[in-house]
Amino acid sequence: MECFTGSFTQQEPIPEAAIAAALRVMQSGRLHRYNTAPGEIAEAALLEEEFAAATGARYCLAVASGGYALATALRAVGVRPGDRVLTNAFTLAPVPGAIASVGAVPVFVGVTEGLVIDLDDLAARAEGARVLMLSHMRGHVCDMAALMRVCEARGIMVIEDCAHTMGAAWQGRLTGRWGAIGCFSTQTYKHMNSGEGGLLISDDPGLMARAVLLSGSYMLYDRHRAAPPPEAFADLRLTTPNISGRMDNLRAAILRPQLADLPRQCARWNERYRVVEAGLAATPGLTVIDRPAAEGFVASSFQFLLLDWAPAAIRAVLARCAARGVELKWFGAAEPAGFTSRYANWAYAPSAPMPATDRILHGILDMRLPLTFSLEDCAQIARIIRAEVSAVFQGDTSAPDLTARAD
Ligand SMILES: *Cc1c(COP(=O)(O)O)cnc(C)c1O
Repeated sequence: MECFTGSFTQQEPIPEAAIAAALRVMQSGRLHRYNTAPGEIAEAALLEEEFAAATGARYCLAVASGGYALATALRAVGVRPGDRVLTNAFTLAPVPGAIASVGAVPVFVGVTEGLVIDLDDLAARAEGARVLMLSHMRGHVCDMAALMRVCEARGIMVIEDCAHTMGAAWQGRLTGRWGAIGCFSTQTYKHMNSGEGGLLISDDPGLMARAVLLSGSYMLYDRHRAAPPPEAFADLRLTTPNISGRMDNLRAAILRPQLADLPRQCARWNERYRVVEAGLAATPGLTVIDRPAAEGFVASSFQFLLLDWAPAAIRAVLARCAARGVELKWFGAAEPAGFTSRYANWAYAPSAPMPATDRILHGILDMRLPLTFSLEDCAQIARIIRAEVSAVFQGDTSAPDLTARAD
């Protein structure tokens, strides 16, 4: 019986050009973004300029993490302690965490079978909220035109969490460019890898001036190349607290060559996604996620549903796939495990049960698709999942027989 031997957590090495750029920064000793030699432009400032150009945003700010970018966005739009902030019930812990970090109250909105935010539920819960922190969780992009209509009609400002959608779009318009602010992560498991890091984009000079000051720009904001002009800072510079969370030149140097290569990498992720998707098509009991034509996704991970399966049967699939080297994560487990948790686990943000959303969450199986996987690896992973889901679906919940010959 075939087993997969690759690692789901192994990313590609940092490109040679990025390593060379990092060495130059280290040799200079000028790692702090405001520590520049005469005439020198900091790597962090160049990264911001290039990311703004790549996304078409007027402004960009590089920060210490994706979670920091989210919290900074909330502060920049003026969220206060006690405010209600709408967000996805299906997201990653740093999203409600960012809301809680400013003393605001997450209000969870349900998820659809397409793994995007439920717009009817959003409209139903919108009362009393001024801000939606929209998480494009696992790279699934909702109908952004419809979402913006729901929010604009109610005066709700949208902050986009694009941790899984760097390079992705809806109807050709990039994620992060629909809302007032777009937030990205450059943590190791996202689309560019600097270990930790975040980027924030916006077209709004007031919001971006606040974000720059919040990030800890001291009074050196005129050294930024993708920030609003000095006038935008005049009324804010003494009233905006410094909550240090800058990106350093070392991380920026590592990211710039990766940004130049991002379109090629996105295409490689999607090739892998399509191989797994084709391998799982029409597996009895398994639902492949529908990807609308308007969604220009970047699939650095793969999800499928085992809808309405008994927990014991899902656990059997997990165990049987794990025994053959395929590590699936389950959003329905009773206790959060690794990166996988759900709204009911975030006890600091109390919420009433959401039965329709629970039905989906209990059925979500999730895995990473690192670019270290070949297309043949992806085909093999799909064969293993297909075989084990089929076996359990047909009533076999025993352990797989690893000694059986492959046919
Ligand atoms: C990773 C992630 C973040 C936050 O990124 P960090 O850089 O780890 O703080 C936010 N939202 C989602 C959905 C993520 O997966």
